[in-house]
Amino acid sequence: MNWRAIGVWMGLLSIHSGLLAEVPPDAKFFASGTVEYRPGNLPLVIAAPHGGRLVPAEIPDRVEGVLTRDAETDLLAIEVAEAIYRRTGLRPHLVLCHLHRRKVDCNRDALVGTGGNPRALETWRAFHDIIDEARTAAGRGLFLDLHGHSHPEARVEIGYLLDAKQLREEGADFNALAQVSSVASLAGTSPVSFEELIRGKSSLGALLHGGGFPAVPSPEFPDPGEEPFFRGGYNTARYRTGGTGDAFFSLQIECPKPGVRDTEENRRRFAKALATSLEAWLLRHAGIRLVNEEARPESRGSE
Ligand SMILES: [Zn+2]
Repeated sequence: MNWRAIGVWMGLLSIHSGLLAEVPPDAKFFASGTVEYRPGNLPLVIAAPHGGRLVPAEIPDRVEGVLTRDAETDLLAIEVAEAIYRRTGLRPHLVLCHLHRRKVDCNRDALVGTGGNPRALETWRAFHDIIDEARTAAGRGLFLDLHGHSHPEARVEIGYLLDAKQLREEGADFNALAQVSSVASLAGTSPVSFEELIRGKSSLGALLHGGGFPAVPSPEFPDPGEEPFFRGGYNTARYRTGGTGDAFFSLQIECPKPGVRDTEENRRRFAKALATSLEAWLLRHAGIRLVNEEARPESRGSE
Protein backbone atom coordinates (compact mmCIF):
# COMPACT_ATOMS: atom_id res chain seq x y z
CA MET A 1 0.00 0.00 0.00
CA ASN A 2 1.32 3.44 -0.92
CA TRP A 3 0.60 5.74 2.00
CA ARG A 4 1.88 8.89 0.35
CA ALA A 5 -0.55 8.31 -2.52
CA ILE A 6 -3.36 7.73 -0.06
CA GLY A 7 -2.53 11.04 1.56
CA VAL A 8 -2.80 12.78 -1.81
CA TRP A 9 -6.02 10.90 -2.49
CA MET A 10 -7.55 11.91 0.84
CA GLY A 11 -6.62 15.51 0.11
CA LEU A 12 -8.29 15.39 -3.29
CA LEU A 13 -11.32 13.63 -1.89
CA SER A 14 -11.83 16.20 0.83
CA ILE A 15 -12.58 18.69 -1.95
CA HIS A 16 -15.80 16.76 -2.48
CA SER A 17 -17.88 17.62 0.53
CA GLY A 18 -19.31 14.87 2.63
CA LEU A 19 -17.48 11.91 1.10
CA LEU A 20 -14.39 11.94 3.29
CA ALA A 21 -16.28 12.09 6.54
CA GLU A 22 -18.28 9.01 5.59
CA VAL A 23 -15.38 6.62 4.89
CA PRO A 24 -15.97 3.85 7.47
CA PRO A 25 -13.05 2.57 9.58
CA ASP A 26 -13.13 -0.90 8.00
CA ALA A 27 -12.78 0.43 4.42
CA LYS A 28 -9.71 -0.96 2.66
CA PHE A 29 -7.74 0.76 -0.07
CA PHE A 30 -5.71 -0.89 -2.82
CA ALA A 31 -3.53 0.10 -5.79
CA SER A 32 -2.24 3.35 -4.24
CA GLY A 33 -5.67 4.27 -2.92
CA THR A 34 -7.41 4.07 -6.31
CA VAL A 35 -9.70 1.16 -5.36
CA GLU A 36 -11.82 1.14 -2.21
CA TYR A 37 -13.46 -1.93 -0.69
CA ARG A 38 -16.07 -1.70 2.03
CA PRO A 39 -16.57 -5.28 3.26
CA GLY A 40 -20.08 -6.65 3.55
CA ASN A 41 -21.99 -9.58 5.05
CA LEU A 42 -24.82 -9.99 2.53
CA PRO A 43 -24.80 -12.15 -0.65
CA LEU A 44 -24.73 -8.94 -2.66
CA VAL A 45 -21.74 -7.23 -4.32
CA ILE A 46 -22.21 -3.65 -5.59
CA ALA A 47 -19.56 -2.07 -7.83
CA ALA A 48 -19.19 1.44 -9.25
CA PRO A 49 -16.50 1.26 -11.96
CA HIS A 50 -17.10 4.66 -13.58
CA GLY A 51 -17.53 7.11 -10.68
CA GLY A 52 -13.80 7.80 -10.17
CA ARG A 53 -12.47 11.36 -9.75
CA LEU A 54 -8.67 10.96 -9.47
CA VAL A 55 -6.61 12.10 -12.46
CA PRO A 56 -2.93 11.52 -11.53
CA ALA A 57 -0.63 13.05 -14.14
CA GLU A 58 1.73 10.05 -14.05
CA ILE A 59 -0.93 7.83 -15.65
CA PRO A 60 -1.49 8.85 -19.28
CA ASP A 61 -5.03 9.44 -20.53
CA ARG A 62 -6.50 6.52 -22.43
CA VAL A 63 -6.81 7.04 -26.16
CA GLU A 64 -9.44 4.42 -26.96
CA GLY A 65 -13.07 4.13 -25.84
CA VAL A 66 -15.36 6.26 -23.68
CA LEU A 67 -13.51 8.66 -21.35
CA THR A 68 -16.33 10.44 -19.50
CA ARG A 69 -17.13 9.42 -15.94
CA ASP A 70 -20.60 8.45 -14.74
CA ALA A 71 -21.05 11.50 -12.52
CA GLU A 72 -21.86 10.86 -8.85
CA THR A 73 -22.22 7.10 -9.23
CA ASP A 74 -19.57 6.73 -6.49
CA LEU A 75 -21.82 8.70 -4.13
CA LEU A 76 -24.90 6.84 -5.39
CA ALA A 77 -23.32 3.43 -4.74
CA ILE A 78 -22.46 4.51 -1.19
CA GLU A 79 -26.07 5.68 -0.68
CA VAL A 80 -27.43 2.36 -1.98
CA ALA A 81 -25.21 0.42 0.43
CA GLU A 82 -26.33 2.68 3.29
CA ALA A 83 -30.01 2.30 2.34
CA ILE A 84 -29.64 -1.49 2.37
CA TYR A 85 -27.99 -1.28 5.78
CA ARG A 86 -30.81 0.90 7.12
CA ARG A 87 -33.38 -1.66 5.90
CA THR A 88 -31.59 -4.86 6.79
CA GLY A 89 -28.98 -4.18 9.46
CA LEU A 90 -26.48 -5.89 7.14
CA ARG A 91 -24.16 -4.57 4.45
CA PRO A 92 -23.51 -5.44 0.81
CA HIS A 93 -19.90 -5.66 -0.34
CA LEU A 94 -19.07 -2.32 -1.97
CA VAL A 95 -16.26 -1.86 -4.53
CA LEU A 96 -15.42 1.63 -5.83
CA CYS A 97 -12.89 2.61 -8.49
CA HIS A 98 -11.63 6.11 -7.58
CA LEU A 99 -9.46 6.50 -10.70
CA HIS A 100 -11.14 8.60 -13.41
CA ARG A 101 -12.35 6.80 -16.53
CA ARG A 102 -9.80 8.84 -18.53
CA LYS A 103 -7.15 6.73 -16.77
CA VAL A 104 -8.81 3.32 -16.44
CA ASP A 105 -12.05 1.62 -17.44
CA CYS A 106 -12.81 -1.29 -15.10
CA ASN A 107 -15.85 -2.23 -17.21
CA ARG A 108 -13.73 -3.26 -20.21
CA ASP A 109 -11.17 -6.02 -20.68
CA ALA A 110 -7.70 -5.32 -19.29
CA LEU A 111 -6.13 -4.14 -22.55
CA VAL A 112 -8.88 -1.74 -23.64
CA GLY A 113 -9.48 -0.63 -20.05
CA THR A 114 -5.86 0.27 -19.30
CA GLY A 115 -4.23 0.89 -22.69
CA GLY A 116 -1.43 -1.35 -21.38
CA ASN A 117 -0.33 1.16 -18.71
CA PRO A 118 1.06 -0.75 -15.68
CA ARG A 119 -0.32 1.69 -13.08
CA ALA A 120 -3.79 1.56 -14.63
CA LEU A 121 -3.49 -2.22 -14.77
CA GLU A 122 -2.71 -2.30 -11.04
CA THR A 123 -6.04 -0.53 -10.42
CA TRP A 124 -7.94 -2.75 -12.87
CA ARG A 125 -6.55 -5.93 -11.26
CA ALA A 126 -7.29 -4.75 -7.72
CA PHE A 127 -10.89 -3.88 -8.67
CA HIS A 128 -11.56 -7.32 -10.15
CA ASP A 129 -9.60 -9.30 -7.53
CA ILE A 130 -11.75 -7.72 -4.79
CA ILE A 131 -14.99 -8.58 -6.62
CA ASP A 132 -13.78 -12.17 -7.04
CA GLU A 133 -12.97 -12.42 -3.34
CA ALA A 134 -16.28 -10.84 -2.31
CA ARG A 135 -18.20 -13.26 -4.55
CA THR A 136 -16.34 -16.20 -3.06
CA ALA A 137 -17.08 -14.94 0.47
CA ALA A 138 -20.76 -14.42 -0.39
CA GLY A 139 -21.31 -17.79 -2.13
CA ARG A 140 -24.54 -17.59 -4.13
CA GLY A 141 -25.87 -14.10 -4.78
CA LEU A 142 -26.11 -10.98 -6.91
CA PHE A 143 -23.41 -8.84 -8.51
CA LEU A 144 -24.74 -5.37 -9.31
CA ASP A 145 -22.76 -2.98 -11.55
CA LEU A 146 -23.93 0.60 -11.02
CA HIS A 147 -23.67 3.18 -13.82
CA GLY A 148 -25.07 6.47 -15.09
CA HIS A 149 -26.41 7.18 -18.60
CA SER A 150 -27.34 10.39 -20.37
CA HIS A 151 -29.96 9.04 -22.79
CA PRO A 152 -32.94 11.31 -23.66
CA GLU A 153 -35.43 9.21 -21.69
CA ALA A 154 -34.75 9.52 -17.95
CA ARG A 155 -35.52 5.87 -17.20
CA VAL A 156 -33.53 3.38 -15.18
CA GLU A 157 -32.08 0.88 -17.64
CA ILE A 158 -31.70 -2.65 -16.26
CA GLY A 159 -29.10 -4.66 -18.17
CA TYR A 160 -29.68 -8.42 -18.22
CA LEU A 161 -27.35 -8.82 -21.24
CA LEU A 162 -30.47 -8.64 -23.44
CA ASP A 163 -30.42 -6.00 -26.18
CA ALA A 164 -33.37 -4.04 -27.59
CA LYS A 165 -34.01 -6.59 -30.33
CA GLN A 166 -34.06 -9.50 -27.85
CA LEU A 167 -36.36 -7.54 -25.53
CA ARG A 168 -38.87 -7.23 -28.40
CA GLU A 169 -39.30 -11.03 -28.45
CA GLU A 170 -42.35 -12.47 -26.69
CA GLY A 171 -43.59 -15.71 -25.14
CA ALA A 172 -41.59 -18.88 -25.89
CA ASP A 173 -39.05 -16.96 -28.03
CA PHE A 174 -38.38 -14.62 -25.12
CA ASN A 175 -38.21 -17.41 -22.54
CA ALA A 176 -35.60 -19.18 -24.72
CA LEU A 177 -33.22 -16.27 -24.00
CA ALA A 178 -32.90 -17.18 -20.30
CA GLN A 179 -29.62 -19.04 -20.70
CA VAL A 180 -27.83 -16.13 -22.45
CA SER A 181 -29.05 -13.59 -19.89
CA SER A 182 -27.16 -12.34 -16.83
CA VAL A 183 -29.68 -14.11 -14.58
CA ALA A 184 -29.40 -17.54 -16.23
CA SER A 185 -28.78 -19.20 -12.88
CA LEU A 186 -32.00 -17.67 -11.49
CA ALA A 187 -34.20 -18.90 -14.31
CA GLY A 188 -34.20 -22.39 -12.80
CA THR A 189 -34.94 -21.32 -9.22
CA SER A 190 -37.49 -18.54 -9.75
CA PRO A 191 -41.06 -19.81 -9.36
CA VAL A 192 -42.20 -17.77 -12.39
CA SER A 193 -41.46 -17.69 -16.12
CA PHE A 194 -38.38 -15.92 -17.46
CA GLU A 195 -40.61 -13.25 -19.01
CA GLU A 196 -42.24 -12.58 -15.63
CA LEU A 197 -38.81 -12.44 -13.95
CA ILE A 198 -37.56 -9.83 -16.42
CA ARG A 199 -40.63 -7.63 -17.04
CA GLY A 200 -43.64 -9.00 -15.16
CA LYS A 201 -45.43 -7.65 -12.10
CA SER A 202 -42.70 -8.97 -9.79
CA SER A 203 -39.75 -7.85 -11.96
CA LEU A 204 -37.17 -5.41 -10.67
CA GLY A 205 -38.38 -2.90 -13.28
CA ALA A 206 -41.95 -3.14 -11.94
CA LEU A 207 -40.77 -2.73 -8.36
CA LEU A 208 -38.69 0.34 -9.23
CA HIS A 209 -41.58 1.81 -11.21
CA GLY A 210 -43.82 1.29 -8.18
CA GLY A 211 -41.23 3.15 -6.11
CA GLY A 212 -41.47 6.18 -8.40
CA PHE A 213 -38.62 5.42 -10.83
CA PRO A 214 -39.68 4.40 -14.36
CA ALA A 215 -37.52 1.52 -15.60
CA VAL A 216 -36.96 -0.60 -18.69
CA PRO A 217 -37.63 -3.53 -19.01
CA SER A 218 -40.82 -3.46 -16.92
CA PRO A 219 -44.55 -4.02 -17.51
CA GLU A 220 -44.79 -0.33 -18.48
CA PHE A 221 -41.76 -0.44 -20.81
CA PRO A 222 -41.23 -4.08 -21.88
CA ASP A 223 -38.53 -3.00 -24.35
CA PRO A 224 -36.66 0.29 -25.02
CA GLY A 225 -38.62 1.10 -28.20
CA GLU A 226 -36.55 3.35 -30.44
CA GLU A 227 -34.59 4.82 -27.53
CA PRO A 228 -30.92 4.02 -26.91
CA PHE A 229 -30.40 1.32 -24.27
CA PHE A 230 -27.46 -0.29 -22.44
CA ARG A 231 -27.82 -4.09 -22.27
CA GLY A 232 -25.04 -4.68 -19.71
CA GLY A 233 -21.30 -4.63 -20.25
CA TYR A 234 -18.08 -6.45 -19.49
CA ASN A 235 -18.60 -6.77 -15.74
CA THR A 236 -22.20 -7.97 -16.04
CA ALA A 237 -21.01 -10.72 -18.39
CA ARG A 238 -17.91 -11.52 -16.33
CA TYR A 239 -19.78 -11.97 -13.04
CA ARG A 240 -22.70 -14.07 -14.23
CA THR A 241 -22.68 -17.82 -14.15
CA GLY A 242 -24.79 -20.02 -16.34
CA GLY A 243 -26.55 -23.20 -15.31
CA THR A 244 -26.44 -24.58 -11.79
CA GLY A 245 -23.68 -24.89 -9.21
CA ASP A 246 -21.72 -21.68 -8.58
CA ALA A 247 -24.84 -19.60 -9.01
CA PHE A 248 -23.91 -15.93 -9.03
CA PHE A 249 -26.13 -13.79 -11.20
CA SER A 250 -25.62 -10.19 -12.27
CA LEU A 251 -27.33 -6.95 -13.25
CA GLN A 252 -26.22 -3.65 -14.71
CA ILE A 253 -28.22 -0.71 -13.43
CA GLU A 254 -27.88 2.46 -15.55
CA CYS A 255 -29.25 5.52 -13.81
CA PRO A 256 -30.38 8.73 -15.47
CA LYS A 257 -29.07 11.93 -13.92
CA PRO A 258 -32.25 14.02 -13.49
CA GLY A 259 -34.14 12.96 -10.39
CA VAL A 260 -31.80 10.07 -9.56
CA ARG A 261 -28.14 11.06 -9.17
CA ASP A 262 -28.18 14.86 -9.52
CA THR A 263 -28.73 15.86 -5.87
CA GLU A 264 -28.06 14.29 -2.49
CA GLU A 265 -31.79 14.17 -1.78
CA ASN A 266 -32.54 12.40 -5.07
CA ARG A 267 -29.68 9.94 -4.60
CA ARG A 268 -31.05 9.09 -1.18
CA ARG A 269 -34.60 8.69 -2.52
CA PHE A 270 -33.48 6.42 -5.35
CA ALA A 271 -31.21 4.39 -3.07
CA LYS A 272 -34.12 3.71 -0.75
CA ALA A 273 -36.36 2.63 -3.66
CA LEU A 274 -33.62 0.37 -5.07
CA ALA A 275 -32.94 -1.19 -1.65
CA THR A 276 -36.65 -1.91 -1.15
CA SER A 277 -36.98 -3.30 -4.68
CA LEU A 278 -33.92 -5.55 -4.40
CA GLU A 279 -35.16 -6.92 -1.10
CA ALA A 280 -38.49 -7.99 -2.64
CA TRP A 281 -36.94 -9.17 -5.93
CA LEU A 282 -34.26 -11.33 -4.33
CA LEU A 283 -36.75 -12.94 -1.95
CA ARG A 284 -39.29 -13.67 -4.68
CA HIS A 285 -36.98 -14.98 -7.38
CA ALA A 286 -33.85 -16.22 -5.61
CA GLY A 287 -35.21 -17.14 -2.17
CA ILE A 288 -32.56 -14.82 -0.71
CA ARG A 289 -33.72 -12.99 2.40
CA LEU A 290 -31.75 -9.78 2.94
CA VAL A 291 -33.63 -8.75 6.03
CA ASN A 292 -32.61 -9.78 9.49
CA GLU A 293 -35.68 -8.56 11.38
CA GLU A 294 -33.85 -8.17 14.69
CA ALA A 295 -31.02 -6.22 13.10
CA ARG A 296 -33.20 -3.97 10.96
CA PRO A 297 -32.46 -0.42 12.21
CA GLU A 298 -35.71 0.93 10.70
CA SER A 299 -37.67 -1.41 12.98
CA ARG A 300 -35.92 0.19 15.93
CA GLY A 301 -37.06 3.59 14.70
CA SER A 302 -33.64 4.97 13.76
CA GLU A 303 -33.60 6.15 10.16
ZN1 LIG B 1 -20.74 3.48 -16.93
